[in-house]
Amino acid sequence: ERKAALAASTGPGATSDGHKVPLLANVGGPADVPAAVEAGAEGVGLFRTEFLFLDDSAKAPSEEKQVEAYRQVLEAFPEGRVVVRVLDAGADKPLDFLTPADEPNPALGVRGLRSLLDHPDVLRTQLTALAKAVEGLSVQLEVMAPMVADRADAKAFADACRAAGLRAKFGAMVEIPSAALRARSVLQEVEFLSLGTNDLAQYTFAADRQVGAVSRLQDPWQPALLDLVALSAEAARAEGKSCGVCGEAAADPLLACVLTGLGVTSLSMGAASIPYVRSALASYTLAQCERAAAAARATDSAEEARKAAEAVLSGA
Ligand code: PEP
Ligand code: MG
Repeated sequence: ERKAALAASTGPGATSDGHKVPLLANVGGPADVPAAVEAGAEGVGLFRTEFLFLDDSAKAPSEEKQVEAYRQVLEAFPEGRVVVRVLDAGADKPLDFLTPADEPNPALGVRGLRSLLDHPDVLRTQLTALAKAVEGLSVQLEVMAPMVADRADAKAFADACRAAGLRAKFGAMVEIPSAALRARSVLQEVEFLSLGTNDLAQYTFAADRQVGAVSRLQDPWQPALLDLVALSAEAARAEGKSCGVCGEAAADPLLACVLTGLGVTSLSMGAASIPYVRSALASYTLAQCERAAAAARATDSAEEARKAAEAVLSGA
């Protein structure tokens, strides 16, 4: 029965009453595109461009090499959208030419957008390469910055995009609690938000995502994390803008329904999870997702939150 449901799972993501939730793929480069297309992804919600930088930690790839890689991903979704994240180096993804070697706490140091603002030439090359790569294509290009802390970060990124002549929507990832708490202020500078729930959990719970001993606190069902998702989604709705999720949380079918109930407007995940999330979403109405979200937020632990959502949706 489950197999049949998955086989029948095609088309755009939506709840059973037709509330659309685009299902997008997380990719690391052109090699991940065929699986995304095969799974029926409506585009890319997170293109982790740092993979292009891993071949040579001593310097950035040339503009030409970047144009080529970006173009291959953009061309695959002529009717969809592709959200490209500019380089997220540092912490768990150090690069010799960008990442300071002497930081006591690299996850709290110069990483993500912070590194790029310290190396404007690297950001400029990336944005210029994207502007060239999208020329003549019909895809909707969106570009976002990792590790945005506040409005000033969002403005610095949007300014750099404009200076590069990039015709795209500019967005901010919400990975730091300060950005979720002041999401409306961040949205004065950018057109969309994308929740990176992996880092958002790490920074909300002071729990290193690379340390197994604290993995309990990395659980995206934690009610405190759901609260920050709700705050971000409500701010985006109030500003008439979108707020997606591109962290691992979006790949859990039940949690995807809860995120939808919290007001998230798109879900991006590894391609393999898309059919499961599509079929879960299609099983419930938006109102049922909203009730599951409220029930999950009313609990005090990840385990209770999951059970509460399950109870609402199974009795649905
Ligand atoms: C995240 O932090 O949730 C995210 C999507 O980015 P990454 O996992 O690449 O840090
Ligand atoms: Mg992240």
